[in-house]
Amino acid sequence: MTGTRFKLFPQPQFLESFGEPEIVEVSSPVGSVGPGPEDHRMYTIFPIGKTQPYGISPDGQDPAAPPWTGPVEPPAEPDADGHFDYLEPGTPQFETAHLFGTVRFVMDIWEDYFDREIPWQGDTRYEKQELTILHSLENAYSGFGFIEMGVDRSDGETRPFALNFDVIAHEVGHAIIYSEVGVPDPRRFTGEYFGFHESAADLVALISSLHFNSLVDLLLENTHGNLYMLNAAMRIAELSENKQIRIAANDVRLSEFAKGWVKEHHLGQPLTGAFFDILVDIFHEMLLDYGAISPEMEALSDELLATHSYAPVMQELFDEAYADHPDLFKLALLDARDILGTYLADTWQRLSRQDLSFADVADAMLAVDQAHTDGRFATIIAGNFRLRDIGEAVVGPQLAPLGEDSHANSVRTMLPMD
Ligand SMILES: [Zn+2]
Repeated sequence: MTGTRFKLFPQPQFLESFGEPEIVEVSSPVGSVGPGPEDHRMYTIFPIGKTQPYGISPDGQDPAAPPWTGPVEPPAEPDADGHFDYLEPGTPQFETAHLFGTVRFVMDIWEDYFDREIPWQGDTRYEKQELTILHSLENAYSGFGFIEMGVDRSDGETRPFALNFDVIAHEVGHAIIYSEVGVPDPRRFTGEYFGFHESAADLVALISSLHFNSLVDLLLENTHGNLYMLNAAMRIAELSENKQIRIAANDVRLSEFAKGWVKEHHLGQPLTGAFFDILVDIFHEMLLDYGAISPEMEALSDELLATHSYAPVMQELFDEAYADHPDLFKLALLDARDILGTYLADTWQRLSRQDLSFADVADAMLAVDQAHTDGRFATIIAGNFRLRDIGEAVVGPQLAPLGEDSHANSVRTMLPMD
C-alpha cells in the first residue's frame, strides 16, 4: 500500500540551500487523510479570531484547552488521488498541510525506533491531538491534547513556525517525552527534568532532519564527513542564516550549573552536546567498519579533538577519505543516525519521571548498549558523559522562575486534573 505525499521544507524556506521543498511520503495509507488534514490520530486547523494560546490562562484561572470551536480557514483538501503535495507555499492550506505532514513524518521516524505506535499523552482525555496554527503567538508549544505553532517576528518579518521543520519536530519531541517518560509528581520535579525535556526535543529534531535525503547529501558535501564543522545539522530551530536558538555541537559542561540555572534550554546543552559527540563517535566507528577511514585516522581524530590543531589537520584527512568513498560515508552516517535514534527511544523507556537526573540518562543508555551489543559503544558513551561532568556535577537551584518563553510552561497543562 502506498502512503500519502506531502511537500516539506527540510529546513526553513528562507535558508538559501533549502529553498526547495522535498516531496515525502508518510506512512498514512493514501486515502486515509481527509480535509484538514486530519486522520484517526490528529487534525490540523488554522483558527480565525483565536487570541490566546492553549495552556496559558489569561486570568490565572483554568488554562485554555482544546478543542477550538470557533471559525477556521478552509481546510487543506487532498487531491483526487489522496495526496497533498500539489499545494504550493503561500496559503493557509499549505501551512496546515506542512504542519500535519511534518508531524506525521517525525512520528513515523520515531515509531520506527520505538517499534510500535507512540500514544499521545492526552489519549485518555482527547480522542485526537489538535495541531493548531496561531500567528498571534511568538512561540510554539506542545501540551495536553495539542501542538500549537506561532511565528517568529524577531527580524521584522513574519515567519510561521508551521513551515519550520526543526521547530515542529522539537515540539513533537516534547510530546513524545510527555507520553513516554511522563510528568513527575509536583514535589519530584528536578531542574534536570526540564533540561532533559529540551535536550530530548532537540535530539528528536536533529535525528529527524537526518531523514531528508537532500539534507544528508548537502551535509556530507559541505563537510566531507567532518561533522564538527558548523553546518545545518548542528543548528536546531534555525531562524535565519546567522541566528540559531541552540547548537548541538557545544562545549557546555554540567558543572557550569553548580551554582544554579535560569533557562532550561541552557541546562539541557551538556546533555545534547554529549549525545551529539556520541553520534559523531558512532559515525566514526561505522566508517571504520566500512573501511572508509583508517584506524590511524580515527585514533588521530580522538586525540586532536580538544585541540586547536583539530580543524586544519582533520579536514584534510576527511577531504581525502570522502573523495574515495562518498557512498560509504552516507551509509555510515545513516547507520549512526539509526543507532542513536534506537538507543534514545530505548533509553527514554527506561527512565523514571520522578527525580530525573542526567546521570540516570547516562546509566540507562549504557544499559541499552549492553542489551543491544554487549556494550560495544560503552567506552564512547561513558566517556562522552564524563567529559560533560554528567554523573559528577550537582546542579544548583533554579534561580528564576521559568520565563514566558519556556516550553516547560506547558508542563502544567500536562498535570493530571482533579
Ligand atoms: Zn522546547
